[in-house]
Amino acid sequence: MVFRIVLIAMVVGICFYLYKQLYGNSTYKKCEKCDGKGYWRAMRGERDKCDICQGAGKVIR
Ligand SMILES: [Zn+2]
Repeated sequence: MVFRIVLIAMVVGICFYLYKQLYGNSTYKKCEKCDGKGYWRAMRGERDKCDICQGAGKVIR
């Protein structure tokens, strides 16, 4: 049945996504300087790109 194949493909896709999420969390951690945003508020309210994480919001351990 085609429906069954689609269902299995979806389950495998979800498992792969969860694995990737866990793997990503173990490799990267949230940037503490900008609190994961990738930027911080400057004096006049403009966005200053974080120089620690280069605007990504996360850094390699
Ligand atoms: Zn940062």
